[in-house]
Amino acid sequence: MSSSEKISVGILGATGSVGQKFIELLANHPWFEIKELAASESSAGKNYKDAVDWFLPTPMPEQIREIEVKKCDPNLDCKIVFSGLDSSIAGEVETEFAKNGYVVISNSRNHRMDKDVPLLIPEINPDHIELIKKQEYGEGFIVTNPNCSAIGLSLALKPLIDSFGVESVNVVTMQAISGAGNPKKVKLDIEDNVIPFVKSEEEKMETEPLKIFGELNLDGISFADFQINAQCNRVNVTDGHLETVQVKLKKDTSKNEMISSWRNFSSEPQKLKLPSAPNHPVHYFDEEDFPQPKIHRNIENGMAASIGRLRPDKFFDYKFVVLSHNTVRGAAGGAILCAELLNFKGFI
Ligand code: NAP
Repeated sequence: MSSSEKISVGILGATGSVGQKFIELLANHPWFEIKELAASESSAGKNYKDAVDWFLPTPMPEQIREIEVKKCDPNLDCKIVFSGLDSSIAGEVETEFAKNGYVVISNSRNHRMDKDVPLLIPEINPDHIELIKKQEYGEGFIVTNPNCSAIGLSLALKPLIDSFGVESVNVVTMQAISGAGNPKKVKLDIEDNVIPFVKSEEEKMETEPLKIFGELNLDGISFADFQINAQCNRVNVTDGHLETVQVKLKKDTSKNEMISSWRNFSSEPQKLKLPSAPNHPVHYFDEEDFPQPKIHRNIENGMAASIGRLRPDKFFDYKFVVLSHNTVRGAAGGAILCAELLNFKGFI
């Protein structure tokens, strides 16, 4: 696809942790081209290279360095806006963009539980995009990407729910520093430390998967009815959220059956060969000390979840570990995959 045929996109919150990842992942995208960058008033008016405190290990893409950062007003020259906005303003701003005809794909929590807004993981609930037709924004609409920890957990649960049914889940997270925002700006007391609190995270983990695994019907989504209990911690890791999970299944299942269900899992994005889709959304490792953030977070360009350490549990049926990249699969990469699905299905 030539540059002039690509769909022009904007990034709201382009200077943040998620915004920078959007830039990295969209710099050479086959379908989308970055046209607009927007952030807060303190960044607006500056060239991107001067507005941003770039912290990614990859160099800032040449083509965006001189783009002028704008305010988050709905007068940007693009069709899609990817939002990595702070949740204090994301709700309002995203509504304005949708009302003004933009396709909004958001990483913020604000619209995730709106009745008519899909909480989309393309491998899990691609049918939920039909909810868009119920939205009353006119030409524009909003689609949301789930919470970063909920995405890893949900990718691990999907094959189990499909094959064996899930009754209850207990999960403890160890979440990376980049999940708290641009680490050059957000100062966490994380050296030689673990912070046993991530604001609002436990509530999101306990509710969002129930919408993600909910059933689409005429009234919207009827939520799934399994139970989730979550405890969330911040640890001294740059990227990649690790989660230890205990699960009670609806039927007797062997360890091999569970591992096969993960290894054989494939879905709509793989069938459609969407550009950002991992070949295998879930990887299972036999090594006793895998997965680890430093080793596995970038597997399949950060778009796959890595699972390991499946073993029987004294209180539930089984326990295992899942890892996923928080700013890729859990944010920018996941949102781009949503946009690819929407484009393929003719919604854009
Ligand atoms: P961040 O690094 O703090 O970035 C926030 C962005 O919002 C910056 O670009 C900032 O612009 C902009 N912003 C702040 N106040 C604004 C205002 N009043 N008007 C316009 N723009 C404003 O945060 P982040 O980690 O990227 O997270 C962004 C969103 O994604 C949050 O809602 C977060 O919960 C969600 N999320 C994050 C992750 C993750 O792993 N980090 C994963 C999933 C979801 P300035 O630089 O100009 O201030």
